Amino acid sequence: MQKIIIAIDGFSSCGKSTLAKQLAKELKYIYADSGAMYRAVTLYFLRNSIPLSNKKEIKNALSDICLEFVLDADAGKSILYLNDENVELLIRDMIINEKVSEVAAIKEVREFAVAQQQKSGEKKGIVMDGRDIGTTVFPNAELKIFMTADIAVRVERRFKELYEVNKTITIEEVKQNLEMRDYMDSNRKISPLRQAKDAIVLDNSNLTMAQQLKIALLWVHEKINELK
Ligand code: C5P
Repeated sequence: MQKIIIAIDGFSSCGKSTLAKQLAKELKYIYADSGAMYRAVTLYFLRNSIPLSNKKEIKNALSDICLEFVLDADAGKSILYLNDENVELLIRDMIINEKVSEVAAIKEVREFAVAQQQKSGEKKGIVMDGRDIGTTVFPNAELKIFMTADIAVRVERRFKELYEVNKTITIEEVKQNLEMRDYMDSNRKISPLRQAKDAIVLDNSNLTMAQQLKIALLWVHEKINELK
């Protein structure tokens, strides 16, 4: 079957990565989590106290960063390595949530991440989720999905995830962080979060995981048939 590029964009905690992983598993595609890259860069900048207003230091820091997704066959998922260190857990921390949108708005950081993302899509057969995948990273992606869900549903989902690792987190903190990131991601100068003109909207507020997968797979097969 012909391989395509599937771009999934949307606000924070709409279930983009869940759908992307489901599709990748079903279609035997690569799953690429573009947000993880911005998170890892943020971790590096925080650890090394890189001032976000200093372009020279940012460029130097980026030249020292090597990001690599390694497939963990047992866990059935890709693990992100930052300079050979598994940072999967660290990059999901609230400290990173607080800073990542500021880091992701920096031109040099976006150029660094987008170049790697585009390279990973050269052979197609990839599902990538993020904020600018259908508009900037893969404007020619065969299938673009823009995900949305009610804010209450999104907060609840993210709270459950974060509470697993941090029992002191509150619903209000989670809500504030989601709203802050959505605002910053939608209002930054470079590649702001936008629905691509040719994206299909998927509102999964009232859908089960099985239902959302079924809908998306239908779209995938429709697109592949159109290409024949
Ligand atoms: O998807 P995730 O919530 O892990 O992304 C973390 C942050 O990375 C987002 O809030 C956004 O600021 C940034 N991001 C981005 N462009 C992408 C993916 C993520 O700016 N393609």
